[in-house]
Amino acid sequence: MENSVEMRTWLDDLGLDHPLVIAGPCSAETEEQVLGIAKALKDTDVNYFRAGIWKPRTRPGNFEGVGALGLKWLQKVKAETGMKTATEVANKDHVKLALEHDIDLLWIGARSTVSPFIIQEIADELKGTDKIVLVKNPVNPDLSLWLGAIERLYTADIKKLGVIHRGFSTYEKTKYRNIPEWQLAIELQQKYPDLPLICDPSHITGKRDMIFDVSQTALDLNYDGLMIETHTDPDNAWSDAAQQVTPTTLVQIMKDLRIRKETVAGEDYNSTIAQLRAQIDVIDNQLIETLGKRMKVAKDIGELKKTKNVAVLQNNRWNEILGKMILEGEQKGLSEEFVLKMFKAIHQESINHQEKILKA
Ligand code: PEP
Ligand code: MN
Repeated sequence: MENSVEMRTWLDDLGLDHPLVIAGPCSAETEEQVLGIAKALKDTDVNYFRAGIWKPRTRPGNFEGVGALGLKWLQKVKAETGMKTATEVANKDHVKLALEHDIDLLWIGARSTVSPFIIQEIADELKGTDKIVLVKNPVNPDLSLWLGAIERLYTADIKKLGVIHRGFSTYEKTKYRNIPEWQLAIELQQKYPDLPLICDPSHITGKRDMIFDVSQTALDLNYDGLMIETHTDPDNAWSDAAQQVTPTTLVQIMKDLRIRKETVAGEDYNSTIAQLRAQIDVIDNQLIETLGKRMKVAKDIGELKKTKNVAVLQNNRWNEILGKMILEGEQKGLSEEFVLKMFKAIHQESINHQEKILKA
């Protein structure tokens, strides 16, 4: 599959002067809830009203969605507010029903993108339609799976495409519900610059007070839009209560975001530099995060040395690390002088931490 402008004509045709906004509840719960939220979003910048009808839940026993009944409520949303609608599909029956109910945009969830069988089934069912289909990243940080899903749809003649970056699950606990791993989305963006890229800060953060920051990072990285879960009574939502915002908060978020306008002639430089700087910010954050992790392991070693009564400084080990890192650095174009300086500083910080433990 080649990069193609065809993939983004549906988005360009909307002629928006702001990022695309998809908003609405995690789950459709009742007709009143769905219509209430839609009416609150009607006269805002929201372009598509989302609601999950079939909810993939990690463990059984949680609310699994209202099913096909919810499609009627989405039709009512369109009839009563004029908003276009969006829902998640996870198999061919969902696609059939969504098409019958004239849902405007379909997205494929993170748990489906991991399965080429499911993606192929959905692609086959969609063949011959001109639906907009957005593919969420797979649960695990595997760029090929994500690309594979896009390619299967493209091959089935689905040309109105896009991707949604909703973060990746990790075993380790982080401040995110799903860690963003921005570099993966950046890689995808570089491979397919015309494939619309949408950020879902709700599922990345899992917490409503982090949504603004993640949305801003996405816009700084030149994303085309945002999908934000919105509910009139978030605390009592039947799913994903902690991450949903009220319509009022959504409007405020959209107002506060620094939105970079289309580049006009001569502004190319500013736009490119802003995007590159955003990439540097992402990498710097990863550096700090990684250094923090390294210090934590160094502290564990310190504890162990204390119980075994071993000296903090182990010269052989240290020389071995340095030798290896100088070689690795060389391969990445880093000078020996720089690698030495950097590792000396890191090593000193480790020793300081370990000595503190030994003296405690
Ligand atoms: C959702 O959008 O409500 C959803 C279930 O998302 P994901 O597939 O990203 O978990
Ligand atoms: Mn959700």
